[in-house]
Amino acid sequence: MVFGLFASRGGKIINSKKVCRGAISRAPAAEKTGKAVYIRKIYTNFAESKTKMLTKIITEDNIQNAKKLINRSQRMVIVTHTSPDGDALGSSLGLWHFLSGLGKNVRVVVPDNYPAYYKWLPGTDKIIIAEWMQKYASELIASADLIFCLDFNELRRTACLENLVKESKARKILIDHHLNPAQFCDIAISHPDMSSTSELIFRFICRMGMFEYVSEPCAECIYTGMMTDTGAFTFNSSRPDIFFIVSELLQTGIDKDAIYSKVYNQYSVGRVRLQGYVLYEKMKLYDDFHTSLITLSLEEHQRFNVQKGDTEGFVNIPLSMGNIIFSGFIREDKDMIKISLRSKGDFPCNRFATEIFGGGGHLNAAGGEFYGTLEDAVAKFEEGLEKFKELLKK
Ligand code: 5GP
Ligand code: MN
Repeated sequence: MVFGLFASRGGKIINSKKVCRGAISRAPAAEKTGKAVYIRKIYTNFAESKTKMLTKIITEDNIQNAKKLINRSQRMVIVTHTSPDGDALGSSLGLWHFLSGLGKNVRVVVPDNYPAYYKWLPGTDKIIIAEWMQKYASELIASADLIFCLDFNELRRTACLENLVKESKARKILIDHHLNPAQFCDIAISHPDMSSTSELIFRFICRMGMFEYVSEPCAECIYTGMMTDTGAFTFNSSRPDIFFIVSELLQTGIDKDAIYSKVYNQYSVGRVRLQGYVLYEKMKLYDDFHTSLITLSLEEHQRFNVQKGDTEGFVNIPLSMGNIIFSGFIREDKDMIKISLRSKGDFPCNRFATEIFGGGGHLNAAGGEFYGTLEDAVAKFEEGLEKFKELLKK
């Protein structure tokens, strides 16, 4: 499959015969049975790489329409979901670097603050945190002519930005990988099979034939989003295309080992001690259900002086036990209870999140909100285990 290719001149994207750097096509499924044959096929594909391309995922219509909107827009805003994670920030900043490189006037607006271990991402100093700069965020969104909605599937996920985005006259482009996107954008580039929104940003840029505009800082952001949404490539990351993209990103000069370290080896002593505490004192096992649950109250947050992001990743740890397939983390916040769910194998966290907590997410990672006491949230979680026992006990 071959890309429609485009190049950019003076901030405008135009048609071009230029071939995007690097290329590969998938080996036919039947050939995958023989590993040697498959590897030979890859090398053959590399030899043909100037004409063959990354699997075409985004539709041509979406690419053409998005390109037109980008060309005729002057004031762009990129928004993402509340409590921005690595993919929300990586995709937003990756796209921001790309559009800025084209000479576009573009700002990233996030609803609230993000964990300190993402501060190093290039471009964070330009991010507008709406909860701290409400007036400015409102003005930017109201006067934008194009808004990119990244890494969420319904406007509710943007918290304090929801009404601003809804009411803005700007055209809207969704780029996301969550199931069942709501209809709130003019163009929806929604692909739940993708590892991350950051992967989609790479594909989006590349499909416009503009890989040359993926600078090293842009690649750092995209790589970070792909890495954090796949648990450093340990889940949801077995498609060969993912590593082809990573290889392309590495060619811009990024250091993937340094990125890993900047995200995962920068915890405070408080976080590491808190981790010890929750695993030793707070982890409850439901052996019959192959399930684990960790809870954390507001009082405990205060006692350990928990900072934003300090509890991220705790929910994954119980899955390192052989007999645990489902893990829950229930955290009391100031105005609600936050639910995080993770699974391994085919247990559907998203179904559990939707049916029990009215939330959503992906098969192996989902979440939701609960309004009530911590005890009520735990009772609801336990009701959920009963409801899903056929899937959990097998
Ligand atoms: P986390 O546990 O990291 O907060 O969230 C994991 C995934 O669950 C997110 O990427 C998102 O897809 C989904 N998610 C988390 N919280 C919510 C929520 O309140 N509502 C919905 N619809 N999805 C959520
Ligand atoms: Mn994501």
